[in-house]
Amino acid sequence: MININRLVKNYGRFEVLKNIDLSIEKGKINYIVGPNGSGKSTLIKIILGLVKPTGGEVFIGEHKINSDSDYRSKIGYMPQAASFPENLKVREVIEMVKDLRNHKSDFDLDLTEKFRLEREMRKKLCDLSGGTRQKVNAAIAFMFNPELLILDEPTAGLDPVSSSILKDKIIKERNAGKTIILTSHILSELEELADNVIFLLEGRIYFYGTLSKLILTTEQKNLERAIASIMNGAPV
Ligand code: ADP
Repeated sequence: MININRLVKNYGRFEVLKNIDLSIEKGKINYIVGPNGSGKSTLIKIILGLVKPTGGEVFIGEHKINSDSDYRSKIGYMPQAASFPENLKVREVIEMVKDLRNHKSDFDLDLTEKFRLEREMRKKLCDLSGGTRQKVNAAIAFMFNPELLILDEPTAGLDPVSSSILKDKIIKERNAGKTIILTSHILSELEELADNVIFLLEGRIYFYGTLSKLILTTEQKNLERAIASIMNGAPV
């Protein structure tokens, strides 16, 4: 689904991503984990075409990123903090995104219904609670039936009921063959959902594979200890 070859990103003399090779399979839930500043957001933004790499190539299916923008309509993105105009009502934001994406039918309203967003539609974004904003962002990310979903800390700020609804939706979409890339610091969530973990540290990929392989290769008894051992420099 996604092929990344010799990807490099520098900001001035600072190397944020250092020669990354990665091949992400279709139809899996992939968690990017790593300490703050390890390059997770930069990698996501490059896949989305929002940041230009210094070197290397990224392909989504057949599409090379930056050479065409058609592939973007196949991606659903839920940023940590969406920057929609604050004075718009929820309904207006949804209509605006529909217009921008030029997607005329077949909307997935699963999350809109399960989060009961209908009663929020006439409120302005600036009047919503943080959790409700997250729900609106999630509903928009899934609305256009994208083949690839990129979700940046999607459950942060959600109450347990809403978080469960979103996790069930992520699993449902994975089971329907969608590819999902997420970031999260919540290890219980990784244990519940992750098919694969991509571990980034100081701009390099230290591990890519299943949770059980991660625990096995680090010879630790659980995920928390496995991740801690990589951060402490254990070879994998
Ligand atoms: P993470 O998401 O893992 O916390 P980021 O990808 O946000 O990491 O950042 C990786 C490193 O790149 C950090 O040291 C950050 O300060 C730096 N960085 C990110 N964006 C920029 C930018 N636009 N200009 C300069 N440095 C940046």
